[in-house]
Amino acid sequence: MQTTRPRLDPSAASAGTMMDVPLTIRWIFEHNQRSHGMREVVSREDDGSLFRYTYADFGARVAQLASALVEMGIRPGDRVASFGWNTHRHLELYFAVPMIGAILHTANIRLFPEQVCWVFEHADDKAIFVDGSLVPAVARALAVRPASSRQFVVMGASQVELPGALDYEAQLAGQPSEFEWPELDERSGAILCYTSATTGDPKGVVFTHRSTLLHAFAAGMADGLGLTQRDVVMPVVPMFHVNAWGIPFLVPMVGAKLVLPGAKLDPASLIDLLERETVTVSLGVPTVWLAVRDEMERRDLRLPALKRLVIGGSAVPPSLFDDLEKRGVRTMHAWGMTEMSPIGTASQLTADLESASWDVQRAALLKQGRFTPLVAWKILDDNGEPVPHDGKTAGVLWVRGPAVTRSYYRLDEDLPVFKDGYFMTGDVCTIDRLGYLQLVDRTKDLVKSGGEWISSVDLENAIMGHPAVREAAVIGVAHPKWVERPIAVVALREGQSVDEPSLRAWIGERVVKWQIPDRIVFVDAIPRTGVGKFLKRELRERYKDLLGV
Ligand code: ADP
Repeated sequence: MQTTRPRLDPSAASAGTMMDVPLTIRWIFEHNQRSHGMREVVSREDDGSLFRYTYADFGARVAQLASALVEMGIRPGDRVASFGWNTHRHLELYFAVPMIGAILHTANIRLFPEQVCWVFEHADDKAIFVDGSLVPAVARALAVRPASSRQFVVMGASQVELPGALDYEAQLAGQPSEFEWPELDERSGAILCYTSATTGDPKGVVFTHRSTLLHAFAAGMADGLGLTQRDVVMPVVPMFHVNAWGIPFLVPMVGAKLVLPGAKLDPASLIDLLERETVTVSLGVPTVWLAVRDEMERRDLRLPALKRLVIGGSAVPPSLFDDLEKRGVRTMHAWGMTEMSPIGTASQLTADLESASWDVQRAALLKQGRFTPLVAWKILDDNGEPVPHDGKTAGVLWVRGPAVTRSYYRLDEDLPVFKDGYFMTGDVCTIDRLGYLQLVDRTKDLVKSGGEWISSVDLENAIMGHPAVREAAVIGVAHPKWVERPIAVVALREGQSVDEPSLRAWIGERVVKWQIPDRIVFVDAIPRTGVGKFLKRELRERYKDLLGV
């Protein structure tokens, strides 16, 4: 028997339901202004001094900046670039630009001059806001290719003149401290961020208002980054890459105090801020914390206010986790990527693990963590079948969700990474019974020796466990018999020494024999990408003939 379905009248269906209000960044801003006006933002200036203001002052300057942008001719949909450190001015841009309907392109200051020109051109930025201390870097890029049609605005004092540039403070001066914000479509672009081009050209990802707001909620939950109004948060992760892990939106939303370290990222300056501002949560890549750990050990220092360090971008070496734990600092491992706005997982203990032994808890905390609620995922083996949740079987991770990109900016080709509504992360992972994700490697960094895969991350972690080793990067190098074999590039801790045979012997006690690197090369420092990851592309080039092919 056929039943007749009642016909839905769209207007009747919406009667009696919720308000249809666009999910825009303005929600974060206005809530911040209504509820957290007295809380502070502290920002390190280029000369080392500390600038302080309240969120109420911040709000007034965001409004002034919005008027200045409109006066400069910025229209909805235009791209406006920032080229700056983590500062209060950068934070103002993060809000004013999207809230007038334009898109903030957070350009990566660590790209080469040619790449800087490339991203400015690709994004077609109408205006570029540059920190005073970074004017020389922009001048170097403009020497490669001039950009006469773009308006430059310099933020803070600069030793070098940029012809025709406006001054940020002069633009804000005299502007009204209120702005009539336009009603925006929640699907319109808010932030444009390029990946750091560890492979090929940088690829642009546009976060919408909606994705940004939803990401802030999902990433901020108690089992995510778990930030509260009582926290004092210092993002060392740069605002010029991966949306600073969403912190510029999440922290003003919850009303935590925000500490912005500016250009001074040496361990002593960071420790100074951690101590002086009683930071409770700080975030950054492992390199930053390796240096902070060394400095803390040198000075036998403890930081009692610091509740946790959120570490991501690359895997957390277990030795770093243990050393920080000994100093009373808990590490929270987090994983994500530009394409995911970026937070995908965070590592907190589940109810099952709360009463487990420390060894079991530690093993879980060292994994990349459990997924945030707005990420659907599948991990597929070589045959396209889902892997079992046994924490052992590895496959390639695909993700889907309202804060996951479905394409790259101005790249119209059909890319195989976007398929069936999912995005292929390029990360090879396992997932365990409790839902903890663990990264085995990036697909392109796995070493294939005689048909067997070797995880460069596992080997690096093993090597970094040696007390004399500061950092280790493992790459695959062409080999006459095995096609590819691992070699390790190692930097030692200051004042420490170990030779190649004894380090190989030490590694041999921790990994199966055929995984021991064929060679260990000692260097002073391992080359890094602009955002602190090992520059494996360069290492592969440098050592391609090492095993005599
Ligand atoms: P790119 O380095 O290409 O600019 P991202 O900065 O977005 O891009 O980096 C994303 C990648 O970084 C992830 O796909 C993953 O390989 C790696 N990554 C991020 N967080 C972690 C982590 N906690 N552990 C291991 N790898 C990580």
